[in-house]
Amino acid sequence: MSATPYAFEPDLLRLTTAGSVDDGKSTLIGRLLHDANALYEDHLDALRRKAERDGTALDFALITDGLRAEREQGITIDVAYRYFATAKRRFIIADTPGHVQYTRNMATGASTADLAVILIDARLGVQTQSKRHGFIASLLGVPRVVVAVNKMDLVDYDRAVFDRIRAEYAEFAARLGFADLTFIPISALIGDNVVSRSSRTPWYDGVPLLTHLENVYIGGDRNLIDFRFPVQRVVRPHQNFRGYSGQVASGVVRPGDEIVVLPSGRRSRVTRIATYDGDLDHAHAPLSVTLCLADDIDVGRGDVLAHPNNVPRVERTIEAMVVWMDERPLATGHAYFVKHGARTVRAACSGIVYRVDPDTLHRESAPQLLLNDIGRIRLTLFQPLCVDEYRKNHATGSFILIDAESNATVGAGMIIERHTAHDLVPAEPASTVSRDISWEQGKVGEDERARLLGQRPLTIWLTGLSGSGKSTIACELERRLIDAGRACYVLDGDNLRHGLNRDLGFSAQNRKENIRRVAEVARLMNEAGLIVITAFISPYRDDRAAARGIIGAHRFVEAHLSTDLAACERRDPKGLYAKARRDQIPEFTGISAPYEAPENADIVLDTAAEDLETCVARLLEIALPTEARLERR
Ligand code: ADP
Repeated sequence: MSATPYAFEPDLLRLTTAGSVDDGKSTLIGRLLHDANALYEDHLDALRRKAERDGTALDFALITDGLRAEREQGITIDVAYRYFATAKRRFIIADTPGHVQYTRNMATGASTADLAVILIDARLGVQTQSKRHGFIASLLGVPRVVVAVNKMDLVDYDRAVFDRIRAEYAEFAARLGFADLTFIPISALIGDNVVSRSSRTPWYDGVPLLTHLENVYIGGDRNLIDFRFPVQRVVRPHQNFRGYSGQVASGVVRPGDEIVVLPSGRRSRVTRIATYDGDLDHAHAPLSVTLCLADDIDVGRGDVLAHPNNVPRVERTIEAMVVWMDERPLATGHAYFVKHGARTVRAACSGIVYRVDPDTLHRESAPQLLLNDIGRIRLTLFQPLCVDEYRKNHATGSFILIDAESNATVGAGMIIERHTAHDLVPAEPASTVSRDISWEQGKVGEDERARLLGQRPLTIWLTGLSGSGKSTIACELERRLIDAGRACYVLDGDNLRHGLNRDLGFSAQNRKENIRRVAEVARLMNEAGLIVITAFISPYRDDRAAARGIIGAHRFVEAHLSTDLAACERRDPKGLYAKARRDQIPEFTGISAPYEAPENADIVLDTAAEDLETCVARLLEIALPTEARLERR
């Protein structure tokens, strides 16, 4: 086996480049490859001929652009990496344009980059995009950054220009925590300070770019502690051999090691580490190997092997920093595929915690993430995934988001620890945190139930003041759904007060628990395949958001009955308002407790203005297509 482990290769530097379209990225890479003699002769000849023909200097941009054209013809994605070497070090350059670059980085764990070169056009100075690139590099955990201030020739090698850019960017990057931040004034086109020092920048006392790349210290950044082995394939060439192939994502494994299979939790022991070139006595990232186990236990593609005392989290909801790359915004409730290692699962965005302004690095609340935005989001997964925090493990901590309809990559994410402060979804009590690990999967799947019942489950969550019409609408809607052949059930606040929730009063805390239980029941019913309609005042926004999180945003329809207090009180179908006023009942929503109206309800109905028939028809209009949409996926 020829591969040597990542961690012990001080002579190998993985670098990625970032810059806006005309910043000179291609020219710089071309110049590096050319001056390091890493180009094929025929390729060079073609460039020389073209230069002669045009009466110009060699166009270095054509070197990489030419490679890119080949790549776009679909030759092989590995061409996205350029390899070259000098006497001192070998280099791998991840060279891809714009968004593709972020995605590739995150999707391939390149995130293994030791260093990022960020290009800034001297004439334009520090742009938002330059800051965004720095921010992404820091999110990716790239520890070292070189800011190459390019096109110095076009600003007459003016020291003041360079100093200004350096000061501005250094101040910005101070908050990003890079281990090394170096500024170099260059002209990629002319070759100033790329491979050799330029006499045109006598005021610059640093080294040229290549010298820096050759000498910058790269420590052992890689994770050799947490063993993670995502199974890509079960190998069974004959009766006597059964193995699990994949790439060691992190850590080290040896024959004899105890392992646990996730998410099933079954245990076994490694008996062999097989490769084409014979067995190994240990394997570490990024080796691709086949592991054999002592026991004939059930292991499938997408499962993860780990050491029992050091396991990834098995999660159904994750929080992540996401770089959004689609024209269509990311919004709460939208559904995507999450591609995480060897697994792809359906997911829905269940909340946007904040968006980061790349100029100031401030967090701001945002209803959506637009193209190029970076923000923290929460995802509800249809099936649990074995994840780590990206900070601890790039391979098991990163994922890409795929649009369910177009199949396009729309975002790249890095998993972070869920926080509980200001959390939309309350922290789970300790006893249930690991429920997914012990969750008995059963033998009947979601799709089978859907086929049996001929429907996709969803929860229609009615919220509004007492007397706004929740019960009336819920009952009528249930009638109509049953008539349309759908298996459904109403959960009504008044009914549950006699049973499940009879121990709960009306304080905010009790209401929170009341809603949590209702949401758990709705989720169970949804998992059993039923359509659920709930009729609860549910006055608090956070509680409803928590319900959405429990039930799953993808099948949660929030319907706001917006009828105002005066109209509800005039109706007072149960005489509750009269009683509340007479007895001065505390915590009566609308009178002595607030009602927090939804900001982004899926549907708003004013029952004072629209009659019952219209309200129910409008709900059916949204419920049935939602169900159909779920069916398509
Ligand atoms: P909630 O369950 O929200 O406390 P109810 O359904 O018990 O409210 O009471 C709503 C009252 O309003 C009923 O008396 C109902 O007949 C009346 N009503 C009038 N118009 C509508 C409508 N469009 N939708 C629902 N109820 C309506």
